[in-house]
Amino acid sequence: MTTPMKPASTEAPYRLASSGFRDGQRSVFDVAGRNVGGGGFALIAGPCTVESREQLLEVAAAVNDAGASMLRGGAYKPRTSPYSFQGLGQEGLRLLAEARERTGLPIVTELLDVRDVEDVVEVADVIQIGARNMQNYALLAEVGRTDCAVLLKRGLAATLEELAMAAEYVLKEGNERVMLCERGIRTHETAYRFTLDLLAVPALQEMTHLPVLVDPSHAAGRRDWVEPMSLAAAAAGADGIIVEVHDEPGRAICDGPQALPADGFAGYAERVRRAAELAGKEVSVAA
Ligand code: PEP
Ligand code: MN
Repeated sequence: MTTPMKPASTEAPYRLASSGFRDGQRSVFDVAGRNVGGGGFALIAGPCTVESREQLLEVAAAVNDAGASMLRGGAYKPRTSPYSFQGLGQEGLRLLAEARERTGLPIVTELLDVRDVEDVVEVADVIQIGARNMQNYALLAEVGRTDCAVLLKRGLAATLEELAMAAEYVLKEGNERVMLCERGIRTHETAYRFTLDLLAVPALQEMTHLPVLVDPSHAAGRRDWVEPMSLAAAAAGADGIIVEVHDEPGRAICDGPQALPADGFAGYAERVRRAAELAGKEVSVAA
């Protein structure tokens, strides 16, 4: 007797993340008073890494004055070389808490190691999971058990389905506030740091119900290419941007060449706001 063939499943393997899960309704949620998803556009800006009190507070004030939605800054940095600066760690978290206190901006910061989760959630409004950890399943499950929103970056060579499956690990633990982030992938092209895959925006918005953000900084690797890609991402309907800004880009410890100068950020933010408007979105600020 032959076993009947199983009918092909129409269900996506990333069940909780799939657009079908909410009957076509997209995820919209609150992060410390900022609307994420739907008509809200999250403009997340700040230094690659927290370097000093002066640096962080200066950048925080500049992006806050320009109407950014949230402040980014790494206290734990995933560096290609183990000899490079690895971040200020707990001192960096303390400075982020001070910047939050002064500006009211919600904090987005990366978690690299499950052992630091308690310290990070004390300060973070959004835990960033970096490209290198997109498939660190223990870390994904751990942040899934927190009640902190999560920004999940696409792995350097990950497919969109793999990204959606990674989000599934977070959602499965009960954490529903997950944002996906396209940050450039490795291709044969070497003219820029990574290939920014902007088609990921409409594709992920079709595949999943989750907000989709774009990081133009790490893809470009050069500050003059950051704005055109930001405008393109916003016009393409991205739910937000996470961009690197520094008060003295020439002296940045990490990712200086791609950092936007803090003193020009207001103009940039205004142009991004107009591009987001083209796609029917408004930059989210405190209600
Ligand atoms: C970062 O945001 O500073 C970062 C390290 O990003 P990614 O994980 O995308 O390389
Ligand atoms: Mn960086």
